[in-house]
Amino acid sequence: MKKSHRVAWSLTLLLIALLATPVFQAHDEWDGIPLIRTRGRGLRFRPPSVPSDSESSRDFRASAHHLNPALRNDLPRSQLLQSLANAVNSNGMISDLNAISTVIPTRYFSSAGMKTATQYVLSRFVGVGLDDAYFDTFSEGGSSLRNVVGIKRGSQYPGRIYIICGHLDSTSNRFETEAPGAEDNGSGSVGVVEAARLLAPLQTQSTIYFICLTAEEVGDWGAEHIAQRADQEKWDLRGVLNMDMIGYDEAGTPQLWVEGFPKDPGSVALMDRLTSAARMYTDLSVYRYPEDGWGSDHVTFHEHGYPAVLAIDYDWDHYTCYHRTCDTVSNIVTSQLRKMTATVTVATAQLAGLQTALGSIAGIADRIDSPKDAGIRIELIGTGYAPVSSSTKGAFSIRNLLPGRYQLQATATGYRTAMKKVTIVAGHTTRITISLTRKSASGSNERSRGSEELPND
Ligand SMILES: [Zn+2]
Repeated sequence: MKKSHRVAWSLTLLLIALLATPVFQAHDEWDGIPLIRTRGRGLRFRPPSVPSDSESSRDFRASAHHLNPALRNDLPRSQLLQSLANAVNSNGMISDLNAISTVIPTRYFSSAGMKTATQYVLSRFVGVGLDDAYFDTFSEGGSSLRNVVGIKRGSQYPGRIYIICGHLDSTSNRFETEAPGAEDNGSGSVGVVEAARLLAPLQTQSTIYFICLTAEEVGDWGAEHIAQRADQEKWDLRGVLNMDMIGYDEAGTPQLWVEGFPKDPGSVALMDRLTSAARMYTDLSVYRYPEDGWGSDHVTFHEHGYPAVLAIDYDWDHYTCYHRTCDTVSNIVTSQLRKMTATVTVATAQLAGLQTALGSIAGIADRIDSPKDAGIRIELIGTGYAPVSSSTKGAFSIRNLLPGRYQLQATATGYRTAMKKVTIVAGHTTRITISLTRKSASGSNERSRGSEELPND
C-alpha cells in the first residue's frame, strides 16, 4: 500500500510538473489536502525526476550502498558521545513542545503566537545557561521578525562556529488562527533547545550557535538573514546542522533521512557525521538522500557557500497532518524525537570538540516495611540510559552519565512509584537513597530520603 502510494505520488508530481506553472503561491493551494508536499516551501517542490521517489531507491535495502563507502571521517566509538546520546530527555522535550505547540495556537511567522514562541525559546536558552542569547531582529514582508540565537563559546577556538538550527514558525490550512506545527517544526525547535540544555554546562573547543529560525515556511527568510550576517561579519562558519520534522515515524521503514549536497565536500562530511552518529550512538536506521538538498533552511546556508545538512524523518512525506491543523503533539513518536535529537546533538558535539568527564550514581532503593529490597527498577526517565535493578540489599549504580540534571524513578510491584531529582557532576558519584511505600499505605506518594554528592576517589 505504501509503495503504490509512493508510485502514485511520483506520477502526481510528474503530472504537476508537466502541467503547472513553475511558481506556486505560498498558501493559495491549500484547501484541506495539499497539492504538493514542499516541507513548507511554497516556491520549491521535489523534482519529479529525483530517483529517491522511485520504488527501488525509496527501499531501504536498495539504498544501503549510500551508507558505507562515504564514511570517510569515522572515528572510534566514544563513551562520552554515547552518554550524550543517552542523556537526551524526551520528557523535557515534550514539555517544551506543548509550550510552543499546544499552548500557542499558531506560530505563523507574522503572528502574535510566533512572538510568544520566540520569547519562550529565548527564556529557555537563558535558563539553561548559554553564554549569550538574543533576538536576531530584521524586517521582511512588512513584518518585524526575529530569529532566536543562543551561543555557547568555544574554549579553544571561539572563532570557529557550528550552527544547530530548526525553524520555529509553522503553517496550516488555517495558519492565521490554528497552526500547531508540532512535527513541522516544533519537533526540530525543541531539538535545538534540548541540544542547548545538554551542551550549555559542558566545555566545547569550538563555538556552537543554537538557532530557532523564523519564516522558513514563506521562503527561509530567517535563515537568509543569518547567512547574510555570516557573510558580512565574516563568521568562520564551519557547518550548519538543520532539523526539520524529526518526531514522526512509521513502523517498518528507516527513520533518519540525511540530506545534503553531494557535490560539496563540506556538506558530505556533515552527512557522514550524521550517518555515523546515528549508527554508532542510536539504533536509528539511515537513508542517505542521493540528490541535492531542497525545501528547508539548509538550502539557504548552502547557497551562501556554507557546509549544510538536513536531518528529517524518513516518513515525513507520509505524515497526513503535514501543514494541517491536526499537526499536534499527540502525533509525535517520543523515541523518534529523542533519537533524532541525539543524532544531531552528538554530531554537533563531535564537530565542536566536546570535553567533559562523566559522572555516576550509587544508590540504595528501599521498600519501606519490607526486608526485601532486591528487584526495584530504577531508571532515569525520558532518557536513553538503560534501567537497572536493585540488588539484594537494595544497592544500584548507573555509570557513565553525562553531567546534568535527571529525574530518577524507582518502581516495584505493589509499591507507589517514587521519583527524585538527581544532579550529576563531572568526575563525581552522586549517592542517593530512595524509598518506596506500599500502594495501600496512606501518606505521601513520593517519599524519599536525602541525596548527597561525594567525590570519586
Ligand atoms: Zn518545516
